[in-house]
Amino acid sequence: MAKVIIIGVGGVGTVVAHKCARHPEIFNEIVLASRTEAKCEALARAIGKPNISTDRVDADNVDEIVALFKRHNPDLVINVALPYQDLAIMEACLVCGVNYLDTANYEPKDVAHFEYSWQWAFRERFEQAGLTAILGCGFDPGVSGVFTAYAAKHWFSEMEYLDIVDCNAGNHGKAFATNFNPEINIREITQNGRYWQDGEWVVTKPLEFHRSLTYPNIGPRESYLLYHEELESLVKNYPTIKRARFWMTFGQEYLTHLRVIQDIGMARIDEVDYNGNKIVPLQFLKAVLPNPQDLGENYTGETSIGCRISGKGKDGKPLTYYIYNNCSHHDAYLETGMQAVSYTTGVPAMCGAMMFLTGKWNKPGVHNVEEFDPDPFMAAIAENGLPWHEIVNEDLEL
Ligand code: NDP
Repeated sequence: MAKVIIIGVGGVGTVVAHKCARHPEIFNEIVLASRTEAKCEALARAIGKPNISTDRVDADNVDEIVALFKRHNPDLVINVALPYQDLAIMEACLVCGVNYLDTANYEPKDVAHFEYSWQWAFRERFEQAGLTAILGCGFDPGVSGVFTAYAAKHWFSEMEYLDIVDCNAGNHGKAFATNFNPEINIREITQNGRYWQDGEWVVTKPLEFHRSLTYPNIGPRESYLLYHEELESLVKNYPTIKRARFWMTFGQEYLTHLRVIQDIGMARIDEVDYNGNKIVPLQFLKAVLPNPQDLGENYTGETSIGCRISGKGKDGKPLTYYIYNNCSHHDAYLETGMQAVSYTTGVPAMCGAMMFLTGKWNKPGVHNVEEFDPDPFMAAIAENGLPWHEIVNEDLEL
């Protein structure tokens, strides 16, 4: 029996709230808090359970988060606001003795740069306070790390090559829209790519490398090499990995729009003067693009995200292994009102919170998901809407 605060009620927060509300035996009190309380109230009404209350917080401000925590005294905060707020929320957790979980690593607002160093720097303070912080507990990062931990535990004596493959084969019917917060999404994919090879990072130009990969139940899709944050912790936690890469599919239309957005300066994250007002072009663009939360209704198709791993099996013989989940946009919408990208992020966040609150992932310090026992989490995601499948010793294409 525990009390959680969910900060952020966007696409992901909506799914987390729906899913936590299904388990009153674990989440017996739920507080929804965000910058705009009206959105929390609307979500609480839509879920319609008596154990959900709402509040307002500007999570850029440590004092406001501390005041929020003091008003509610939660056991755990599920941070599904934006990556900019991670450090402020972690600071407030230390002040008030609250455990922490998020789905994306910290990014400073003025530089599109993501790495774990800022959050890993909290490790000793969380340890000394006896508090647990679980980092990156969405799908990727999140399930991708747990899939890798599961492969290491049950299949491999030595993992050598890891490719995380993320396909969205859905169609929302819009000319251009992003599937989660547009500002965060466009910052991520317009960066240089990066992958791990023989003990060092190899940098590529944005979307420079691509190839066709075949996804289960979907077929071949052009997949682009990107840098993705879980690579950083996975190569550290599994030092036998010689090469680790991340691939994501994009359609040609999407890439054309993205190129135009960049070419005309709308992906800029610095302030420009507009009629005497300072605006950030990418933030303005977010305001005019479709809201990812509104894409669900007519979204067809499915996502397929997984890990393709090769190396030596437990018996020392060569082994290839592919573990993945496919998720239907329409089914996710019928259940939560959100599309599959929010759904596949929100379900693992709820399951990670469940792991912590039931004592299975309770380890003071700051940890990435692969540092915990994968088995109970794998069972929980399968039971809560994200079944997974394994393919052994078939061609990984990579
Ligand atoms: P949205 O933009 O839909 O929602 C963000 C929410 O955070 C909104 O409710 C917003 O409030 C709130 N918020 C923003 N700034 C503040 C602030 N300063 N104080 C309080 N609340 C704030 O984003 P998504 O739901 O799409 O994404 C949520 C998180 O999930 C992001 O960090 C994203 O990177 C991560 N993510 C992770 C994935 C994974 O697989 N690991 C995949 C997809 C997303 P308001 O409405 O008032 O602006």
